Amino acid sequence: ARPVRLSVHLHPYGEGRLLLLSSDITAVEQAEAMRRDFVANVSHEIRTPLTVLAGFVETLQTLPLNDEERARYLALMAQQAGRMQTLVNDLLVLSRLEGSPLPSDSEGIAVPALMHQLEQDGRALSAVMNPASEPLQHLTFDSSLAGDIMGAPNELLSALGNLVSNAIRYTPSGGQIQVRARLLADDRAEFSVSDTGPGIAPEHIPRLTERFYRVDRSRSRDTGGTGLGLAIVKHVAQRHGAELKIDSTPGKGSVFKIIFPASRVRLSKALPPSLPT
Ligand code: ADP
Repeated sequence: ARPVRLSVHLHPYGEGRLLLLSSDITAVEQAEAMRRDFVANVSHEIRTPLTVLAGFVETLQTLPLNDEERARYLALMAQQAGRMQTLVNDLLVLSRLEGSPLPSDSEGIAVPALMHQLEQDGRALSAVMNPASEPLQHLTFDSSLAGDIMGAPNELLSALGNLVSNAIRYTPSGGQIQVRARLLADDRAEFSVSDTGPGIAPEHIPRLTERFYRVDRSRSRDTGGTGLGLAIVKHVAQRHGAELKIDSTPGKGSVFKIIFPASRVRLSKALPPSLPT
């Protein structure tokens, strides 16, 4: 049984009687503790690049540097500023998700368009990570789903884009990444992103969608991670009534799936059979 914290108030209630009011404040305290953790995490995440940035500024101000050294310091400073920008962007995305109403199911995004965008962004990211400027991994995208996913297009793109970007960021050069969309037998729509990366040990899996949770902090940072990607994915999935499933085998790779309920899937009408002429 979970411990319960009660707040108890006694109020005078006429004719010498007292009214006892008690309420369970466990949830309130938990929410408050989570808020404190969150603020501490954000501060820490911002302080690190800020400290590095301030150090570089001081170096530029105090040391006599040649042009080449200056350029190198400025590039490192730009990198730290970029880290803070990504972090602030992800925080804004999360806070918007929390404050906005559930996405309607009267608009949506066509699966072929969604897959096309994921493919373009994925190939570009994989190439950016390679000094030779060609995709670092073998990427395949295939979809047998003709129809739309109903909901907020930008959220859907961001959630699936985060899964693709994780697969690319964590899978070493020469690995395989496969992105698939298909209709399940019960008319739900399944998107899956599989990789042949390092995999994730089972004890970490339940915590991956917590904000700032990372299995390997330095690996995440090296590849530009904020630790917020999967928290965003989970939020978007929940808001669309979808399920996020994570399967992973250490040393072999991972599969992340988002499964949308049939109510969020609108299949394209089949073309009428052509009439004999
Ligand atoms: P990050 O910005 O650190 O990637 P995420 O919330 O997207 O944050 O992911 C949380 C953690 O889950 C990552 O730090 C990483 O340890 C692990 N992870 C996510 N995707 C993968 C993957 N495809 N392969 C291996 N580990 C992954």
